[in-house]
Amino acid sequence: MSINTYKYLLSDLKNLKGVGSKTYSILKKKKISNIFDLLWRLPKSYTDRTKSTKICDLKIGDIQTITLVPYKYNFPRIRNLPNRIYCKDETGEMDCVFFNSYEGYIKKILPLNKEVTVSGKVGRFQNKYQIINPKYISENASLIKDKHKKYSLTDGISEKVYNRIINQILSNIPKLEEWHEENILKKFDNISWNNSIIELHKPENIGKYQSNFYQRLAYDEILASFMVHSEIRKKIKKIKKQKKVFNHIDQNSLFSKLDFDLTNDQKTSLIEINQDLKSNQKMFRLLQGDVGSGKTIVALTAAYNVIKSGFQVAVMAPTEILARQHFQLAKNIFDKKIRIEILSSKSEYKEKKRILKKLSNNEADIVFGTHAIFQKKVIFNNLGLIIIDEQHKFGVNQRKKLSDKGGDNCDVLLMTATPIPRTLTMTIYGDMDLSIIREKPKSRKEVKTYSKLENKISDVLRFIKKEINNQNQIFWVCPLIEESKKLDHSSAVEKYNYLKKKFPDQVALLHGKTGIEEKEKILNKFLNQKIKILVSTTIIEVGIDFPNANVIVIENANKFGLSQLHQLRGRVGRGQKQSTCILMFKSSLTENAKKRLNILKNSTDGFVISEEDMKLRGFGDILGFKQSGIKMFRLADPIHNNDLFELAEKEIKKMEKNEVDINKYKTLIKLYDQADVINDIV
Ligand code: ADP
Ligand code: MG
Repeated sequence: MSINTYKYLLSDLKNLKGVGSKTYSILKKKKISNIFDLLWRLPKSYTDRTKSTKICDLKIGDIQTITLVPYKYNFPRIRNLPNRIYCKDETGEMDCVFFNSYEGYIKKILPLNKEVTVSGKVGRFQNKYQIINPKYISENASLIKDKHKKYSLTDGISEKVYNRIINQILSNIPKLEEWHEENILKKFDNISWNNSIIELHKPENIGKYQSNFYQRLAYDEILASFMVHSEIRKKIKKIKKQKKVFNHIDQNSLFSKLDFDLTNDQKTSLIEINQDLKSNQKMFRLLQGDVGSGKTIVALTAAYNVIKSGFQVAVMAPTEILARQHFQLAKNIFDKKIRIEILSSKSEYKEKKRILKKLSNNEADIVFGTHAIFQKKVIFNNLGLIIIDEQHKFGVNQRKKLSDKGGDNCDVLLMTATPIPRTLTMTIYGDMDLSIIREKPKSRKEVKTYSKLENKISDVLRFIKKEINNQNQIFWVCPLIEESKKLDHSSAVEKYNYLKKKFPDQVALLHGKTGIEEKEKILNKFLNQKIKILVSTTIIEVGIDFPNANVIVIENANKFGLSQLHQLRGRVGRGQKQSTCILMFKSSLTENAKKRLNILKNSTDGFVISEEDMKLRGFGDILGFKQSGIKMFRLADPIHNNDLFELAEKEIKKMEKNEVDINKYKTLIKLYDQADVINDIV
């Protein structure tokens, strides 16, 4: 294999010198399997061992480098007593001390009367300087007198081994043929990809985000990701579908059943969706709008139109509760001839079979459910639209699969309540067309947000008592104790038992393990105001709609990100009454936490909140994308590299107009799109 091709970068780490099976499996666990992946683990800091110090100038406690001559061994051969090697330079004497090292090894690395260079933390014992267990020893001073990089990824891999691996890679980095246009490359001082990588790993360049090499590499990955999106878009646009035919009289009859008028943004979004449905190109559209902006009615109207044009519709929600609520709304507003089903993962076998049969025989027009509705055994007769609610954690691969699954005639509409800056939308949903609902329904009152220390819970109880007396209802949210254990709801159970005593017969509990029938019973009770307080884990986070609930208490609020708190807060404030959100904390807040909280208190605009939160925390964490496995950027940052995103957007437009030869980017795509989303680019 020629070393000067990108293939070296995609080769398995096993082939590297110094990567044994232990190191290999540690890296593999971190999802690093080839050389390219390893390049993006950057040094966090470094230890400067470049300057040497004479023994007479040593300082206790510092890491120093000394060139010295060992002149005598002392191997006491008594347990617990270390081996001690007496050393000197022209200015004084010191010891190298070894616990648990074999004599043979010591004799090899510190032969008597030969000059060696040693580096380590200097201590003092019985009036003499010493270094305990020095790891940096060599007769070749230049190996020691260097800046030794520290990577954060070294659990189980020693710094020395890791440095050796990465330095080996850096010295073999292939010179790849340039893929950028001249005018683009000029913006980065013409620095090549391989030189950029080498600069990126130099210890003195840590944190130089504005440098030409960092910017170039950030731009590379943005462009690659946009190209992937663009290719998917192109492919989907090429699909010719049967046009949907419906008239607006039907649609308007739906609206007459609502007790509100659509906002302008709702109307505009619906027009955009309807246009897509009526065209002969497959729709692949995202409906983006803050919590409570009224996406459901827009989506259900679209569903209604598709059904009226003779096709089936599948609506997928992230939770059973939400699926059920959408199902109920459809039952209420669709005309009675429309055959509506709900497929629950917990419904009985017989019931499931009955629904599956109806779907395949075209005896059902619309089905609601969780991801269960996309299992293999679910076969539609004539699927014309897939609606997916609140799936911001769906990656581009999952979306593409879904779009394929529906078949050519099937349009796709995704909904998300995660208001994010435009650059991030382009990044995550660049493969889709976009409709945005910015405007909130006019009747909305702002939710008042307060914070409370947990030991002031009696104030909170007094407040909710008053609210209950005024016929209002309360959500009480407890975080999962451990994120990883999705079913760990002990704090919710505890709080339920506590509140039950204070408010007999008025409290119910909902969590991930509540059975489906039980859940439905509880939600109905809450909806009918038979219970006043609903204690739950975050399963109420997405989408559920209870207009009469106007207080939400969120415990241990610092366990949540701002956007998540904003989403939770969006569960209230849907009716006409004044609503309140009480954030509870275990202990006083740090300055940073206060800052973040103020953002939430001062704004109800999800776009503003997420943008500010990103500035404070970095974008990776913000919506739980990190855990979700959606591939985010390694270097680029949608907030700070706004200009690079815009540059990439312009380039993509040129590519789409065939003004730029896409063949040139083959290597870029091979390296950056290893998931092989677009495997057949030229
Ligand atoms: P989301 O965008 O978060 O999914 P929903 O579709 O659940 O929001 O709508 C939230 C609430 O607002 C529902 O009770 C719905 O009936 C109501 N709603 C939707 N559109 C309007 C509107 N134009 N005017 C008043 N209320 C509306
Ligand atoms: Mg919703």
